Amino acid sequence: MQLSRRQFFRVCSAGVTGSSLAALGFMPDAALAEVREFKLARATETRSTCPYCSVSCGLLVYSLGDKAKNAKAEVIHIEGDPDHPINRGTLCPKGAGLLDFVHSPNRLKVPEYRAPGSKEWQRISWDEAFSRIARLMKTDRDQNFEATNKDGATVNRWLSTGMLAASASSNETGYLTQKIARSLGLLAFDNQARV
Ligand code: SF4
Repeated sequence: MQLSRRQFFRVCSAGVTGSSLAALGFMPDAALAEVREFKLARATETRSTCPYCSVSCGLLVYSLGDKAKNAKAEVIHIEGDPDHPINRGTLCPKGAGLLDFVHSPNRLKVPEYRAPGSKEWQRISWDEAFSRIARLMKTDRDQNFEATNKDGATVNRWLSTGMLAASASSNETGYLTQKIARSLGLLAFDNQARV
């Protein structure tokens, strides 16, 4: 049931609280929106993209912290971006639960390496991870790059390695990633969200 802001405050003054009304299924949108705006008034707003699926809904990510050097920013709220042309402020249940994803104790934040035959994962630095990936890619490309096919036609392809790009990438990042992959001759390339 929809109530105007004026009707909502009339009902509240009769002794029923706003949260009780919301719990009963009433949707006093304007009044509740004002409460939320107050809660986020001193937060930093950052635009982002939901990382879960190919719909690529737009997000507003709110964090505390004034960006001073000694202040630790922390994400406190995530909601759909009402100005985004794809989702117009809406999110599905997965996207609406993104705050738990951000703060999950199981979230992987550093590169890990598992040696062949080992069941143990070990943390490595980003420098080590990037160097290792670059070295393995070069070795594999040097061994398997095909300039021509068996009929002598130019193909310039590298079929023994594939790449999967991140779904939270912007259009520009996705475009550049595609260019790099294709310039190396990679054919097996996909982007999870195709943003
Ligand atoms: S909010 Fe839901 S529909 Fe939108 S991108 Fe995320 S998972 Fe996909």
